[in-house]
Amino acid sequence: WSSEDVAVVTGANKGIGYEIARLLAEAGFRVIVTARNPELGAAALEKLKGLPSISDPSALGFERLDISDKASIEAFKAQLEARHPGRLVVLVNNAGVAFKGDVFGAEECKATIDTNFRGTADACEALAPLLAEGRGRIINVSSGAGDLSRIPGAALRAQFESPVDRPQLEALADKFVADIKAGSYKAEGWPASMYGISKALETAYTRVLAKQLEGRGIMVNAVCPGWCATDMSSWGGPRTAAQGADTPVWLATLPPPGVDGGELVTGAFWRDRQ
Ligand code: NDP
Repeated sequence: WSSEDVAVVTGANKGIGYEIARLLAEAGFRVIVTARNPELGAAALEKLKGLPSISDPSALGFERLDISDKASIEAFKAQLEARHPGRLVVLVNNAGVAFKGDVFGAEECKATIDTNFRGTADACEALAPLLAEGRGRIINVSSGAGDLSRIPGAALRAQFESPVDRPQLEALADKFVADIKAGSYKAEGWPASMYGISKALETAYTRVLAKQLEGRGIMVNAVCPGWCATDMSSWGGPRTAAQGADTPVWLATLPPPGVDGGELVTGAFWRDRQ
């Protein structure tokens, strides 16, 4: 990989996203650190540039990107097209949110789904057309919290197991929020996890997108980083953020199909490189 190859990481100002950006920069990519907060993003960029392991700090940049704001996604896309035409190889959708503690309600559920599922899907839809054919790849940092065995209702589970398209997943998302609002979510077969369902939707969407992009030779995968010590986990996880970044970066650096024995590795859910 070289500074001709652009890698974009969302939510890269801290946690697992920061470590993904660092490892991709160490692998030689031109990394665009993105964050919704410009001050936090600029500070992360400076920190990265000062690391002795980064051989070419000039190949690192920062752009603002709030994945829950379509105007922000469009502005970012325009910058990318203007500054690095035809160079996008890696998109890591790492940005995500989780309410802490016992918070559970329709409003919070919609907010969680709006970022983790809809924001990720919006970023994918906007930026996928810019990905290099035969080399490009998307890595969605999802979670084992979205494991389908955690959804009690068999009929619901079946819908996640065989996702058709984004509108079907949007309807499922709307139904979950409506069932929480109506107080009927348990009877309808949902678990009491807003975060888990947001990630189940994200993973299912990853499979939908993988099918859509396989004709262009683009790999699309979802990853669980494992339980990592970050702000999101209130520093509770046994893994470091760098350990959580390992599998996403491994997917980002797999040889392209047809190069060095590389194959089209797509549409899967990964953990610990498996
Ligand atoms: P952090 O809370 O440390 O970092 C989350 C990052 O996402 C921050 O940079 C945050 O920005 C950013 N973000 C949130 N919303 C948006 C948005 N709308 N637009 C752009 N950026 C946004 O969490 P982690 O590093 O732990 O998590 C990274 C990913 O890994 C998430 O998708 C998470 O769900 C997933 N994950 C984490 C696990 C863990 O144990 N930590 C386990 C399984 C999955 P800001 O600083 O402005 O809030």
